[in-house]
Amino acid sequence: TLQVSNLHKAYNGNEVLKGVEFAVNKGQVKAVLGPSGSGKSTMLRLMALLEPADAGEILLDGKRIGASDANGRIAHHSERKLAVQRRDIGMVFQKFNLFPHLTALDNVALGLTDVQGVGKVEARERAFEILDKVGLAERDGHFPSELSGGQQQRVAIARALVLNPHVMLFDEPTSALDPELVGEVLEVMENLAAAGMTMIVVTHEVRFARRAADEVTLFDGGVIVEQAEPAEFFENPQHERTKQFLSHVH
Ligand code: ATP
Ligand code: MG
Repeated sequence: TLQVSNLHKAYNGNEVLKGVEFAVNKGQVKAVLGPSGSGKSTMLRLMALLEPADAGEILLDGKRIGASDANGRIAHHSERKLAVQRRDIGMVFQKFNLFPHLTALDNVALGLTDVQGVGKVEARERAFEILDKVGLAERDGHFPSELSGGQQQRVAIARALVLNPHVMLFDEPTSALDPELVGEVLEVMENLAAAGMTMIVVTHEVRFARRAADEVTLFDGGVIVEQAEPAEFFENPQHERTKQFLSHVH
């Protein structure tokens, strides 16, 4: 279980997260929808420990993680501890950010050799297994420039997966892709979900939310507005704000 409680974050006095309460249980998939600027990416970055919160708690399997305490005070000498905690949380961004000078295989293996200190031979074996899982075994020697956007995003997913995270966070993973490449990435994510991966997926893909999510969440104005099972969320939204939002995406 990855859980945040009373999460606050402001940039230059502009409060972006206003006390977010959110959790994903082991094996659960949560889809997060919401308008631009509502704080979705900020919430994921804080959950991935890429930035400290101003206040609030982040708990992984009941254990407090992150650099700041409940009042937002940054603990000292925590960088090494943070690096260890970050390994449990995989993140996939809209932009894939692969290393252009490394092959698909080496992009995936890099985390194992550099972060986890795994030997080169074993790292490449494990990287190949994961590339196979995302359907790219035949592309292992290709450089990012030789791969389509959908293939590059699948490499980025493999790169996160190879580190065996407890939970995977996706921030609009298909938004930068040509429409005809969206399906192959969603398919990989649906397979992951079916295999029991714990996932939070910020997305505009209603189809994915309906098919793969256990719960759908509407995020707006730095708080969670509504949360329900997909059928309930889309067919019978309770809040006016949700109805209004859905009238734009349907
Ligand atoms: P989108 O759907 O467009 O991706 P979002 O819901 O992910 O939007 P965030 O990226 O979390 O929204 O941004 C929320 C607000 O916080 C925005 O007003 C944004 O300008 C501001 N913001 C985010 N990151 C920073 C930052 N590093 N410095 C200053 N302001 C920021
Ligand atoms: Mg965003």
